[in-house]
Amino acid sequence: MNIVIFGPPGAGKGTQSNFIVKQFNLKQISTGELLRKEIKTNTELGHKISSIINTGNLVSDDIVGNIIEKYISNDSYKNKLIFDGYPRNLIQAKNLDKLLKRNDQKIDIALKLSVSLETVKKRILERKNLEKRADDKKDIAIRRYETYENNIKAVIDFYKQHDLLKEVNGEGSVSEISDEISGLIDRIKG
Ligand code: AMP
Repeated sequence: MNIVIFGPPGAGKGTQSNFIVKQFNLKQISTGELLRKEIKTNTELGHKISSIINTGNLVSDDIVGNIIEKYISNDSYKNKLIFDGYPRNLIQAKNLDKLLKRNDQKIDIALKLSVSLETVKKRILERKNLEKRADDKKDIAIRRYETYENNIKAVIDFYKQHDLLKEVNGEGSVSEISDEISGLIDRIKG
């Protein structure tokens, strides 16, 4: 079982991925988390990533592609992957497909968490006080929402065409959303 979960900033991708990881014994790959880890290493690559993340734009497809490839080719992660925040555009969706195929794997379900811009703003402001993320400043968060909206349509179409897309209403409580997600995953596990 490999899963993709996507949604705008503040949609609850991280929270719901944590839940799915525990419930279904999977391994989470959050490209945002991995990029933030890279920034902390203080390398040249880290500085480059930091300057992009802090504008609310996407880091290059090559950089994130290299990061996820390490996990896909790792046998202890085989068919246990939940991709949180990847793919963010069509190039990445195709790349993910290619990398998985090369390693005899595939995506089994693509979960889209839908929330309004109003909810995004509210949740990001709440999170700002808990997690000190530089990119949770209001104007950058809005830019991240726009970046998401501008790129995600093609990803949605891609997973629709492969009959893998399931839309989840991300406006409810954490437990309502996780119940819905559990039901969807149980159904495809059969
Ligand atoms: P997130 O933690 O998923 O909200 O991601 C935080 C930031 O990391 C995003 O606004 C992007 O700048 C960058 N990022 C995360 N995932 C990707 C990705 N798949 N492709 C490009 N940039 C990404």
